Amino acid sequence: MNTPVPATSVHGYPHIGPRRELKRAVEGYWAGRTTAAELDAAAAALRRDAVAAMAAAGIAAVPSNTFTYYDQMLDTALLFGAVPERFRAAAAAASDRAGELDAYFAMARGSDAAPPLEMTKWFDTNYHYLVPEIGPATPLRLSGAKPVEEFEEARAQGVETRPVLIGPLTFLLLSKPDASAPEGFAPLDRLDELLPCYGELLERLHRAGAAAVRLDEPALAADRTPEELAALRRAYRYLGEREARPAITVSTYFGAIGAALPVLAAAPVEGVGLDFVAGPANRDALAAAGGLGGKVLEAGLVDGRNVWRTDLGGALAMAASLLGLAGGLTVSTSCSLQHVPLDLAAETGLDPRLRERLAFARQKLDELALIALGLAEGTEALGDRLAAGRPAGGAFTDHQVRARLDALGAGRPRADYAVRVRAQRQGGAGALPPLATTTIGSFPQTAEVRAARAGLRAGRLPREEYERLMRAEIDRVIALQEDIGLDVLVHGEPERNDMVQYFAEQLAGYAATEHGWVQSYGSRYVRPPILFGDVSRPAPMTVEWARYAQSRTAKPVKGMLTGPVTMLAWSFVRDDQPLAETARQVALALRDEVRDLEAAGIRHIQVDEPALRELLPLRRDEQPAYLAWAAEAFRLATSGVADTTTVHTHMCYSEFGEVIGAIGELDADVTSVEAARSRMELVADLRDVGYRREIGPGVYDIHSPRVPSEEEIEAALRRALAAVEPDRLWVNPDCGLKTRGYAEVEPALRNLVSAARRVRESL
Ligand code: GLN
Ligand code: ZN
Repeated sequence: MNTPVPATSVHGYPHIGPRRELKRAVEGYWAGRTTAAELDAAAAALRRDAVAAMAAAGIAAVPSNTFTYYDQMLDTALLFGAVPERFRAAAAAASDRAGELDAYFAMARGSDAAPPLEMTKWFDTNYHYLVPEIGPATPLRLSGAKPVEEFEEARAQGVETRPVLIGPLTFLLLSKPDASAPEGFAPLDRLDELLPCYGELLERLHRAGAAAVRLDEPALAADRTPEELAALRRAYRYLGEREARPAITVSTYFGAIGAALPVLAAAPVEGVGLDFVAGPANRDALAAAGGLGGKVLEAGLVDGRNVWRTDLGGALAMAASLLGLAGGLTVSTSCSLQHVPLDLAAETGLDPRLRERLAFARQKLDELALIALGLAEGTEALGDRLAAGRPAGGAFTDHQVRARLDALGAGRPRADYAVRVRAQRQGGAGALPPLATTTIGSFPQTAEVRAARAGLRAGRLPREEYERLMRAEIDRVIALQEDIGLDVLVHGEPERNDMVQYFAEQLAGYAATEHGWVQSYGSRYVRPPILFGDVSRPAPMTVEWARYAQSRTAKPVKGMLTGPVTMLAWSFVRDDQPLAETARQVALALRDEVRDLEAAGIRHIQVDEPALRELLPLRRDEQPAYLAWAAEAFRLATSGVADTTTVHTHMCYSEFGEVIGAIGELDADVTSVEAARSRMELVADLRDVGYRREIGPGVYDIHSPRVPSEEEIEAALRRALAAVEPDRLWVNPDCGLKTRGYAEVEPALRNLVSAARRVRESL
């Protein structure tokens, strides 16, 4: 017809390979099985396949420089020479490719001489990046050529790519001050020294023939101060005004960008990328700001973070409403496709009614082309593709679940904590000493345990034999805990592959994939289950194991479940209803499980919520509503029990800063937290926000193989006692023990118990 077909672009593409080839190559290199040359060759092949797939699908702006051996923030730090002092000697000494790679991986994984960079979550995703350390004296100079090399590599393959860089503002905002930095220093203070490095890189890319680049500034999806927005303005004025440079698109994702929009609209760059999936408010903001003038709007219309087919009609309507607001429109993903699995074609075992609703990275490429076509030629051009795959969510509705939730409302609240704690402390068998000792749930997953689970899965091991092995494992773990002298025991979780997948496999409305891997960090990939319909619990999930464990000991055994927020955070979730509603369904299934555990004689029940912080919205004004529904879902799951049953929760992986005030709202009797590294400060912090229930600050760090001494645990407990009464203090490691070995776990727990006894005796 008359309108030209708009261009399409992708933020980034999975590079892990259809069969996790990257993991095999990288881990093979670490283990000495693969040479540096073999590793580089494997990586080049994966890049080539990704570029070819995108080019074949007709993507106009194929990204390059999105490949990484470990993490793109780390790559960016190295690109600009921002190597922390402790790694510099090794980096400078590298004389060949293997030396270079070793210096690179040392920053990611640590070496004998130096601990690694800290790792933290990339915005509100489950991807972890390495946190660059930047101080007043950290070198900043263009020190690498990766973006140029990957551009040239793709060009040799016949594809003109658009190099992608993490933008200077986001790079510095996500970095942390190094150890030498004085009070008050922020990495952003170095912006003016960093900008010339970006400028020089743009010039080199221009000389290499790159017509365009994209700079990503996802930090704009969170609240930014006026100073930070001024830095943004300065950065893009500087880069935009450089003469020898490719066309620049500044791209944002993970939400609406609010006050940053007028800054980008006014910047001397050629394009602006906005996410209309996570940030539909961007459209009204754009209209209110009077549009982008002559700039190209790169519109994120295909969800890069979820696995559902795009509602093409909705995307087209959104795109059409954007047409008048910019000089041109590019149809794009909302963010990098690295957050979704590579190709649905590999999934042959899914229910066809679910499968027809799904689109993984490869399928999303075709959706981009369809949206572009529909924009140019009208929706009729899409024919039945328009309606395909997204029939109303009704196909997976469970009216019984919905009716039960309606009847329950918020659920009857439990009695006051003061009343409950009296009930729990009375009655001989339930009584616990002050500084009660326990663990967080899992015990080391030995090779035998893993082999048994794998055997069952593959059909090699008959179920009765598997169950016999698991019971034997539980016997061992219970006997060990009794021998060590812990007060509240656990069954050890040997039957669980993963704390989310284990439950997802047993809940209706949830499906697991066979090959749906996404990178979590480095060579660690996860396979998030897909929550596709109304959730319910066809049968008890953990009760028999807990009942068996309790039958082996006179001490209380703690039942162990994964909470509603964590079940959502580590899954792909349905996008046709609010998250809060899905959380309530998961909570209802857990509520049934909690009550069944209680009926089976379990007096302590722990519902883990390690991901409570992770789902926290990036914008502060959206956080209270989230925390309210998250806490309500937790209470719904746990409030069905008698006052005599003790409800525990556990949290980790986080700076608790923003969520600390909500911990009491969960209304658990006991909260155990990862605190070993913050040295018990959390106990006082919780007191200061008015938390008056029981607390188990992790007294040692299970992430390290080091065995903590009795003295250091005792010292930690005494510090904690400065902020909490002895009968409100629990003594436990800071997380589950499944990744550790018994050689460390046993002496560590013995020291933990004897330290608790020493402190108890001195009270
Ligand atoms: N109960 C779980 C375990 O011990 C908790 C894991 C977690 O917090 N990530 O393994
Ligand atoms: Zn934990």
